[in-house]
Amino acid sequence: MQSNFDLDIPPWNSIDTWQEANRSLSFLMQRNLTDMDRAMALAHKVQTRLASIFLILDDLCKATCPWCPDPCCLSAKVWIDFKDLLFLHLGRHQIPPAQLLPNLKKVCRYWSLKGCVLPRMTRPWVCTWYLCPTQQANLRQKARHTQDKFSRLIQAVKVCRTEMEAEFIRIVS
Ligand code: SF4
Ligand code: SF4
Repeated sequence: MQSNFDLDIPPWNSIDTWQEANRSLSFLMQRNLTDMDRAMALAHKVQTRLASIFLILDDLCKATCPWCPDPCCLSAKVWIDFKDLLFLHLGRHQIPPAQLLPNLKKVCRYWSLKGCVLPRMTRPWVCTWYLCPTQQANLRQKARHTQDKFSRLIQAVKVCRTEMEAEFIRIVS
């Protein structure tokens, strides 16, 4: 049987499957709450590092996005994946009401003329690490230590997200 992942379409792309996925994660968290300390601490670590990345991103966005002739979100084929959803649950963040895309022909439901309506912390990780060519060029104009800090933080979040997922799976398996 083919899953959504095999077909490269967004997982949990209907309201029903989205709610079911979130119910299942909440249930697993509640059932194993006494063992969740490390997974929750890792989610907190991800959050702290993301907050530092956002300071750099806000700066980049301010200098590029308001004049963009072709906003990337209009053609982005991205979605909330398992690590994203896990991070939201472990960090007790507000869960978006639905997956970004019901299918690959649609535009992200959280895009607006003023930009993304989701708080940065609840957007999928891909929406944070992706820098369009204009932003990459802008980042290259910044001080070396800012560029290095950005790369270090991106790498640190990747590692931490993987550890968080592994710890969660270890607990619930
Ligand atoms: S990130 Fe780049 S492509 Fe996307 S809206 Fe901003 S300037 Fe445009
Ligand atoms: S969640 Fe926000 S940043 Fe990500 S694709 Fe959708 S509108 Fe763009």
